[in-house]
Formats: sequence, C-alpha cells, structure tokens
Amino acid sequence: MEIKKNYNLSKLNTFGIDVNTDFFAEIKSENDIEELFSSPEFKHYEKIFLGGGSNILFTKDFHGIVILNKLKGIEITEESNESVSVRAMGGEIWNDLVLFAVNHGYWGIENLSLVPGTVGAAPMQNIGAYGSEIKETLLNVETFEVATGKKKIFNNEECELGYRDSIFKNKVKGKYFISAITLKLSKKENKNVTYRALKEYLENNKIEIHNSKDISEAVASIRNSKLPDPKILGNAGSFFKNVFIKKDELQKLLLEYPDIPSFEEKGLMKIPAGWLIEQCGWKGRKLGNVGVHEKQALVLVNYGNATGSEVFNLANQIIKSVRNKFGLELIPEVNLI
Ligand SMILES: Cc1cc2nc3c(=O)[nH]c(=O)nc-3n(C[C@H](O)[C@H](O)[C@H](O)COP(=O)(O)OP(=O)(O)OC[C@H]3O[C@@H](n4cnc5c(N)ncnc54)[C@H](O)[C@@H]3O)c2cc1C
Repeated sequence: MEIKKNYNLSKLNTFGIDVNTDFFAEIKSENDIEELFSSPEFKHYEKIFLGGGSNILFTKDFHGIVILNKLKGIEITEESNESVSVRAMGGEIWNDLVLFAVNHGYWGIENLSLVPGTVGAAPMQNIGAYGSEIKETLLNVETFEVATGKKKIFNNEECELGYRDSIFKNKVKGKYFISAITLKLSKKENKNVTYRALKEYLENNKIEIHNSKDISEAVASIRNSKLPDPKILGNAGSFFKNVFIKKDELQKLLLEYPDIPSFEEKGLMKIPAGWLIEQCGWKGRKLGNVGVHEKQALVLVNYGNATGSEVFNLANQIIKSVRNKFGLELIPEVNLI
C-alpha cells in the first residue's frame, strides 16, 4: 500500500469538486488495513474514508489522509430454504451487490437499485429509495475501530439505523472504518411495490412482477429518467433530508399554506424538502457555477468548475429562505467536509 502526497480528488467525488488531500491511500486487502493503521500519516492526521464520493461535499482542500475503500468480494455465508446471508466487502459497488442478488433471484434490496456508491457507505445513512431501506435486510456491519485497529461487529440494532441516519453518521462519526456488511435476503417472493412512483410506473407500463429483477429494472428505469447523471452534471443526489414535524405543527402551517404536501410516517408528518425549496423559488435557479436542478429541487448541481464553498453557500441560502418562509429547518443529507 502506497501513501501518496498532495492527491487530487476531483474524480473521486460526484460533485466533481477540484480539491486536494495532503495524503491519499487505497486499501484493497486486510494487510493494507493493518499497514495503513500503523502508518504515521494515519496515526497523526485527520482521516476520511471514501467510497464512491457520492454523498460528500469537499468545501476546501483536506489536510489529512483520504482512504479509498477498494475491498472487494461477495460471498454467501449461510443458506436455508427461505433465505441467504450475503457478505459483501465495503469497496464493492452497491449496485453490483443488487445485481448479484437479483440475478440469483433473491429478494430484499431490489428497490435500492442504482443507488450510487459503495457497500461500505450504505449503512452510514441507511440508504433508502422507492419504499425500502437497507435497515430491512442488514444483519451486521464489520468494522475496524480507528483508534485501536480492533475489529468490531455491529448488529442491526446497534447500528441505530433511522431515516438517512445511523450511529456511524452520528454518535460514532469517524470512529469506525466499515470493512464489510452481511445482508439477509429472502429466497421467497417478498415484493414491495407500494411506493407511489413505482406502483404508477408498473401500472402505466403494464409490467407484471415475476421476480426481484423485474422490480430492479423498473426502479432503474425510473431513476435514469429522473435523476441527473453525475458523470454529466456534478451532484450528490438529494442534498437535503425531508422534513419531519409533529401533526399539530403541520396543522398550523396548513392555515397559511393549505396545499403543503405531507405524508404520515411513524407518527410524524413528512414534508418533502424539494417542495419547500421549490416554493421558495429555487428550482432551476443558477448562481454562477452552481444551481438547483431544473427537475429536482432537492438536487444541487455543479455546472462546471464550482468550488465546494460555492455549493455550500448555495445550500446555506436555501436553508435560510426555507427557514424564513416556513419556519422549518432543512438538514443536509450530504456529508460536509
Ligand atoms: C445521483 C445520486 C442519487 C442518489 N440517490 C440516493 C438514494 O436514492 N438513496 C440514498 O440513500 N442515497 C442516495 N444517494 C446518496 C449516495 O449514493 C449514498 O449515500 C451512498 O451510500 C454513498 O456511498 P459512497 O460510497 O459514494 O459514499 P461516500 O460519498 O464516499 O461517503 C459518504 C460518507 O460515508 C463515509 N464512508 C464512506 N465509506 C466508509 C467506510 N467504509 N467506513 C466508514 N465511513 C465511510 C464517508 O467518510 C462520508 O462521510 C444518491 C447520490 C447520487 C449522486
């Protein structure tokens, strides 16, 4: 394992932000992890573990070590008539794991097709899409503790998975490197097609579901038509989380904004952050090199040569205007560095 100096990260983050890190290492094996953990650069400097860079905004150069996770491998570790346990190394591309599952006819992660990034980052924010979250299939997360290099396995409950949240994004942020995860997938049909956009797509295209691959292909097709491709337009998907408020708070808001959309989830009311941003007039707006996507108000984009601080400033302006108009607080989903 080589530790490189002054390494450019523009191709390693989907926003395409042109920043450098003082040190950079790629890990491909457990030996690399040991070597890395005992290196002076790792011991003495700030560190960031990086997967696909699809949920991160570098606001400036990083004066520490960036570690790119390239640990590969997918294996079945347990199998019964009903289910399989699939262990995947953290550097695998998440969608490759989805394809592995659906090509074997396993159910459980097909709704999460085409979520960008790596397996290792997936538990970080409990990735979710089209009515499903990794929480539903995650058995455990294998980690190395940054301070000691010791292995620790977190079971599902210990991961404290919530809406775009986990213990790794919160309480123990930066304290563990996720090396592998194990999912429990079903061999028996277990379809989840209640999410409105998915249900409508299946109905409109008269698609019958015979296997998990049918769902995976439908989700992929919807995603491809809706979301900007970061290879063409730098972005990190939804920049903000949706907003959850209590029912009585919603009632008050409804007096002033009767058409505010809301969905009940776990006793709270979810308000789509994209709607709030659109109501503040941001959708499709361009400010210099950055802007808000014309079709998806939740997605901030780099129109080319944007700096991380330009994106950050835009995000702050949006937060402020939503606060001023609705009294609601937008929280970034993207990890800010
Ligand atoms: C077009 C687009 C669409 C998206 N759609 C969705 C969606 O539908 N649902 C959804 O949930 N997300 C979505 N995202 C966000 C993103 O894909 C997920 O958050 C994904 O899990 C990030 O993976 P990554 O490997 O790119 O993580 P990175 O961006 O590399 O890292 C994200 C965070 O995790 C940390 N991290 C990464 N790997 C490790 C590790 N091995 N150990 C410890 N910490 C680590 C990083 O330090 C950083 O804080 C989308 C992004 C884009 C660009």
